[in-house]
Amino acid sequence: MMACTTESVADALRAAASVVAEHRTELIELDRAIGDADHGENLNRGFTAIVTAIETVPETPGAVLKTAATTLISKVGGAAGPLYGTAFLRAAAKLGDRSEVDAEAVVELLAAALEGVQARGKAEAGDATMVDALLPAVEAARGAVADGVAAVLTAAADAADRGTESTVDMVPRKGRASYLGERAVGHVDPGARSTALVLRALAEAAK
Ligand code: ADP
Ligand code: MG
Ligand code: MG
Repeated sequence: MMACTTESVADALRAAASVVAEHRTELIELDRAIGDADHGENLNRGFTAIVTAIETVPETPGAVLKTAATTLISKVGGAAGPLYGTAFLRAAAKLGDRSEVDAEAVVELLAAALEGVQARGKAEAGDATMVDALLPAVEAARGAVADGVAAVLTAAADAADRGTESTVDMVPRKGRASYLGERAVGHVDPGARSTALVLRALAEAAK
């Protein structure tokens, strides 16, 4: 696909909601190991609410992402709600009122999402958070910009999967998992995993 319309952005979010629902238990178990076992429930609640909120599809791709952002911020508590919400809000702002999303815009919105997460949560690479999925995803997305939207998102999802796997060896320095310190080593970060899952769903939807 060369560019996404408003409708295809809404479809991609519905696809992401399905994937989050399918992986709800997995995300809960990842968070049970090093947190408070609510990440799957938190995200599933948020994405389910997004599907309802975009039933009447907003006018532009940016408006769809903004609706998703405000829904996440209002429905999802904890650390991940505001972080995911900020990511979608920055992505929406980056799109403004343009009517289509091309590969370059996807790269820009992913970069904006990362900036938002880091501005809000102050996590750096290596802190064992969603940043360890999103940061390499943005870099990989940049490298695929000439190949179209689906290629950009697939490169991002592949990099996010590798980044998620890399959190196993990290000592968490942000969020609840940081309370465990060294005892959290050996576990996948739930927020990195969910970020990779969402990116994969978006990539598959763009094909
Ligand atoms: P909570 O920890 O409040 O229960 P969740 O379980 O929904 O919230 O989300 C936990 C995830 O949030 C972590 O796995 C991590 O990826 C992410 N996270 C927590 N704090 C930060 C932060 N400061 N910056 C980036 N991501 C963070
Ligand atoms: Mg939690
Ligand atoms: Mg919690």
